Amino acid sequence: TIRVRFAPSPTGMLHIGGARTALFNFLFARRHGGRFLLRVEDTDRDRSTTEATQVILDALDWLGLTPDEPPVFQSTRYARHREVAEQMLAAGTAYRCFCTREELAEMRAAAEAEKKPFRYDGRWRDRDPAEAPPGVDPVIRLKAPRGGETVVRDLVQGEVRVANAELDDMILLRSDGTPTYLHAVVVDDHDMAISHVIRGDDHLTNTFRQAQIYDAMGWARPDFAHIPLIHGPDGAKLSKRHGAVSVLQFREDGYLPEALCNYLLRLGWGHGDAEILSRDEQIALFDLDGVGRAASRMDYAKLLHVDAVWLRAAEDERLAADVVGRIARDHGLAVSTGAAGRIAAIMPTLKERARTLAELAESALFLVRELPLPMTEKALLLLTDEAKADLAALAAELNATDFSAEALHAAMAGFATAKGKKLGAVAQPLRAALTGSTISPPIDAVMASLGRDATIARIEAVTG
Ligand code: GLU
Repeated sequence: TIRVRFAPSPTGMLHIGGARTALFNFLFARRHGGRFLLRVEDTDRDRSTTEATQVILDALDWLGLTPDEPPVFQSTRYARHREVAEQMLAAGTAYRCFCTREELAEMRAAAEAEKKPFRYDGRWRDRDPAEAPPGVDPVIRLKAPRGGETVVRDLVQGEVRVANAELDDMILLRSDGTPTYLHAVVVDDHDMAISHVIRGDDHLTNTFRQAQIYDAMGWARPDFAHIPLIHGPDGAKLSKRHGAVSVLQFREDGYLPEALCNYLLRLGWGHGDAEILSRDEQIALFDLDGVGRAASRMDYAKLLHVDAVWLRAAEDERLAADVVGRIARDHGLAVSTGAAGRIAAIMPTLKERARTLAELAESALFLVRELPLPMTEKALLLLTDEAKADLAALAAELNATDFSAEALHAAMAGFATAKGKKLGAVAQPLRAALTGSTISPPIDAVMASLGRDATIARIEAVTG
């Protein structure tokens, strides 16, 4: 059975690279009827907090990538990590190393002098622990194979290999009894019965050492798939200076989770030229063969485009509910029940013009504001004396009209013709008066949505 895991370190945010790794694991599990698990790698005691874990859980929930089982916390498993290291000692596949700090410093200095990478020379591999110097707490090291190669067949990177002479006897257990990262990951993946390890390719070189631990324990290795990282638009490692990188930042900025997932999937995985894929389609089509080997570049403009597509397809009620919350939270304006209803009613035209929920909220603000409306500079310029006189006359006609978009449109068109003006010459100042802006949904829809009283009141507020 297929069992995969996402194994983030709780550092206070979930990076979109991590989100994409989680998504690939999730889709792989769903595609094959397997399980998607979460392991929180919280062994860095200083940085790991319950808040940081909560951020990961929230971000995964928001993305619709909720794990199938309760999370495993790596820090609760130290006793088991130690137990396995001791089993390896007993089996002779690991040994205690009593090197002192000074000896290690010497080895390091010698390597540096020769400009070679530091490698522990294995001096305690076959030495009798009875010769241990007093007062040294030993570490436990893997008795790694000396000759031959370690070969890993990676489902994305293909066959990768390293000469064993390149790898030294890694530490499994530190002198204080805590496991090293590489050891903990192998023991946890084994105990969680993980079948496929799908993770960022920054872990590819770790895989050789992990493979050696599996082999030493006589455990079957999982399949590995190392997916390329996400770079910034300039090809450098993606960081805050390129734009948002934290999943919850994208939520705050008004992206839809389904759009972010869709975008992240397409970034580094392809299926023909299909751009927009539902979650069901993603599950039906996802495979590791479609994952490219080259790093992908984050394209914020493309993400905006994908978000706009998903926004137009989203349910109006859901969008309206989010927009009401955003207006209150981000703009500090109270939204009455009436205003919430107006926002919902005009949503079909609002969402044609917005790319994110934040833009949507911005575009709905005019429905919520109290008089006098704040005016953009361009809107103020439209409100000339002539335009104000027109608006005053138009208000009287509108007041006698049925407040449907059709009737309002006809009234405006009739008014413009009678004045010998183009419709725009009437509609633009009206838009300024009603919305404080020169950009809005169609003006008849705006009026229908505001209703008679608010429409007339807003015109009167500018005509005085
Ligand atoms: N905790 C590691 C990280 O956040 C992931 C390790 C793994 O997936 O094996 O990069």
